[in-house]
Amino acid sequence: MIAQRATTFTESVIREMTRIAQQHGAINLAQGFPDFPMPAPMKDAACAAVQGDINQYAITWGAPALRLAIAEKYRRWYGMEVDPDRDITVTCGATEAMAATFLALVNPGDEVIVLEPFYENYGPDAILADAKPVFVPLEAPKWTLDPDRLRAAFGARTKAIIVNTPHNPSGRVLSRDELSLIAELCQAHNAWAFTDEIYEHIRYAGAHHALATWPGMRERTVTISGLSKTFSCTGWRLGYAIAPAAASTAIRKVHDFLTVGAPAPLQAAAAVGMAFDADYYNHLARDYRERRDLLCSALGEAGFAYTAPEGAYYVLADFSALSDQDDDAFAKWMTREIGVATVPGSSFYHEPALGRSLVRFAFCKKRQTLEAAAERLAQLAARV
Ligand code: GLN
Repeated sequence: MIAQRATTFTESVIREMTRIAQQHGAINLAQGFPDFPMPAPMKDAACAAVQGDINQYAITWGAPALRLAIAEKYRRWYGMEVDPDRDITVTCGATEAMAATFLALVNPGDEVIVLEPFYENYGPDAILADAKPVFVPLEAPKWTLDPDRLRAAFGARTKAIIVNTPHNPSGRVLSRDELSLIAELCQAHNAWAFTDEIYEHIRYAGAHHALATWPGMRERTVTISGLSKTFSCTGWRLGYAIAPAAASTAIRKVHDFLTVGAPAPLQAAAAVGMAFDADYYNHLARDYRERRDLLCSALGEAGFAYTAPEGAYYVLADFSALSDQDDDAFAKWMTREIGVATVPGSSFYHEPALGRSLVRFAFCKKRQTLEAAAERLAQLAARV
């Protein structure tokens, strides 16, 4: 009684680990959501919007004030001219933006290049669109991209590449040269770039470059991002896709029939956040650097091997010096016995063996949460 497409992928391992963490009362460093408050002015704006009776559908592709705020932000930050009336679709999270983009722009049988390890949603996105993912490794320990392997992955059937930088789960921030190569290959093969820039403001090294600003890329890039990570509001489910008008028309149609629209009062409040000045972003990055350093030193002392992330809020750590178990068994054991939940590395690979000795830690947590996790991790070597 179940459609074949729904049998070809599993439930999200990330969200499953959150449930397992709750069962065992473990500190949840698995799913990437902050345990600290979002900015007060946005909360106040959301309350005001509800009290002000903004309770009915917004325009399907996004409330005008939010689209205007998004366009202004892209002009300010990236020098990118975005037409708020034609180029933007506001969605239920970047997750829906990516799924709607696949459904709107990718045909059955098309190939989509995915850099591996990869955020688990891209696999099901490809399956739902009947596309064929083609994986290109980011190679451990530094998670570097081999230009020759990337070149070799592009071909006549390539429809798109997913460009997620800062990268989940590795923490890599792709360099200008790497993005230039991606731009060159997209143009040579008439392919789209679907970017996932949700961690654009969470960086410890390097700058964030929007691929759409490369010469010749604007017309073949769908720029996807959202508010979840930048404003610590993953539960608000607000994301967007910025694309050339013709592609936006297709994305908007898919979005309309999937969800109609993102929550109207939260869209009103989101416009307030999009207008924050550089000070907000500087603080965000500085606070994340402290959290990163705290977790990284705890992981080093506990016996994990890792490369410190350049961006995003995860550490993909190798535990082979600590245990011979596979990633799934190790992550579940650590949740149960040590009280720290992580995500098994195999969920970021198409071939589970590739992630067999890796677990992903999220550090988007309060200092106290990370300190408590560090204390628990200090027991690990003696307990394995
Ligand atoms: N992007 C976050 C992560 O990788 C949250 C995923 C989710 O559950 N939507 O953990």
